[in-house]
Amino acid sequence: MTLHPNEPLADLASDAKSQLKHFFGSEASFIAAAPGRVNLIGEHIDYCDGFVLPLAIERYIVIAAAPNGRDEVRLRSVGQPEAVIPLGEKVGLGEPKWGNYVRGVIAGFQARGHQIPGFDACFVSSVPSGGGLSSSAALECAVATLLEGLLDTTLDTKEKALLAQKAEHEFAGVPCGIMDQFASAFGKKDQLILIDCQSGEPELVPFINPDLEILVANTCVSHDLSDGGYAARRKDTEDGLAAIGKDSWRDATMADVEAAKEAMGDRVYRRSRHVVGEIERTITAAECFKNNDYADIGRLMKASHDSLRDDFNVSCPELDLMVSIAEEIGIGGGVLGSRMTGGGFGGSTVTLCRREEAREIATAMHERYLAKTNITPEIFATRPAQGAHLL
Ligand code: ADP
Ligand code: MG
Repeated sequence: MTLHPNEPLADLASDAKSQLKHFFGSEASFIAAAPGRVNLIGEHIDYCDGFVLPLAIERYIVIAAAPNGRDEVRLRSVGQPEAVIPLGEKVGLGEPKWGNYVRGVIAGFQARGHQIPGFDACFVSSVPSGGGLSSSAALECAVATLLEGLLDTTLDTKEKALLAQKAEHEFAGVPCGIMDQFASAFGKKDQLILIDCQSGEPELVPFINPDLEILVANTCVSHDLSDGGYAARRKDTEDGLAAIGKDSWRDATMADVEAAKEAMGDRVYRRSRHVVGEIERTITAAECFKNNDYADIGRLMKASHDSLRDDFNVSCPELDLMVSIAEEIGIGGGVLGSRMTGGGFGGSTVTLCRREEAREIATAMHERYLAKTNITPEIFATRPAQGAHLL
């Protein structure tokens, strides 16, 4: 099994350029790339003023584009229907659906007073779509970066991430927190991104231990619940905070949650217990990474997964199985910790392991998961990668 099968960025770029030539007959004026992300810990708390600890992964959406002198944007992406976006004063929702991520980002630039020129663009991607690795944020951040090139302007990185998040809220209908777009925009080689979601400030945490590997395992299942499920979780956390009577989860303690248990009812109580516990775990885990001390990391990742499964109810049998396979291999076999990552209801797990045993671990995860589910998972290793940029 190849652990780093990620197509190098240069190959993706050359593929995108050839497609632009093939479909639109033009040479690329700009090539933009933005990565997906994997979150090590801090799940479902970016919208609760919590801390999250993601990294950008070596998987990218790459766009090759050229001005077309028309009053429209024409888009092609492998495996998707062509999208044409007429450039009115204010771009709105339309079909096909994937074009809405692009429309949302264009609308963000229009709202800042930019006149968008017509252009043609071809997208290629090594970020699995719907795999919990934030292909949607990669798409938004890549488009925002492309528009920076086309408009000869540079947004502040935080502004770019927030513009991308707004596109996801208003054009994809997903009320996500700030993690995904921040990770895709701020990603840096060999650095984790500790995001304080209350202040909206990212802090880079070096990840340079040559003995460790980060394994991402896409279960290749995606359960339909996700859309409504996400919004319902957000609502539960808002109700929990209201029951506690505080303005921010950052000021809430487990004692506050216990005290409000009766008023909350069981479901909101469990959601609240997850939020407070996960914020604590993420702060502790960030310290582990800063100090290069991983003694506690397995316990923290396990507690995070258990809480997401039992209290937040966003896991699924396939995620639980993938995590339990990694746990079976265990510390003696080189696994430090494993948990579901991203929004849940399918998608991927993240496993921290010793590099020496990484190949064997990935092979065992692949074989045992396939044997139990009859589904072929996609497992790869990644180092923290560079965020959205023009090539
Ligand atoms: P995730 O962000 O976890 O991958 P989402 O459901 O949030 O999953 O986003 C997936 C959606 O993003 C797809 O349904 C599609 O609309 C869009 N998308 C992702 N990758 C691409 C791509 N390469 N080309 C076109 N659209 C894409
Ligand atoms: Mg997404």
